[in-house]
Amino acid sequence: SELIHDLEKTITNIPDFPIEGIQFKDISPIFLQPKLYEAVIKDFVEFSKGKIDVVCGIESRGYLFGIAIAVALEVPFILIRKKGKLPPPFIGQVYDLEYGTSEIEMKTDQLQKGQRVLIHDDLLATGGTTEAAAKLVEKQGGVPAQFSFLISLEELNGSKKLEKFNADIYSILKY
Ligand code: IMP
Repeated sequence: SELIHDLEKTITNIPDFPIEGIQFKDISPIFLQPKLYEAVIKDFVEFSKGKIDVVCGIESRGYLFGIAIAVALEVPFILIRKKGKLPPPFIGQVYDLEYGTSEIEMKTDQLQKGQRVLIHDDLLATGGTTEAAAKLVEKQGGVPAQFSFLISLEELNGSKKLEKFNADIYSILKY
């Protein structure tokens, strides 16, 4: 599609950043093109329209599109943050990433039991971050109903790790 073509032209690949072996995808040029940004949001909104009650975005690039998706769908947006940033009450989840281990946290007074959640991030790599986010949602009685990403790095099999949630998975670009 035209959207995929425009994004492929816009996103640059930086080899060996931030460490050797990582193909870093720089999405920042998207924000220089408001019309392209708008088209990305429209695409994400089409995927999620009528399917979810809440959007959870993962710090920090999951906020770049996540909030706009939530506003367009007229549903709440909840921040999933890196450890140590949120005031209580919150819960945490430890996970492995491509490079090291980490922990994310989510406030416990924002999601309601039974709500269907879209978990959104800019990029799906191993799926560790997104899986941890889905666990935070489940621990609070929420339903991880959908996952969306701008990019998925197919060879890292992130979607395999998400299969157990029985959710819809969508990425605009696959590398
Ligand atoms: P995962 O947990 O391995 O799926 O990694 C996904 C998270 O790490 C996302 O929050 C991404 O923003 C970030 N990330 C991992 N690998 C890359 C990469 O190659 N380029 C850009 N971001 C990445």
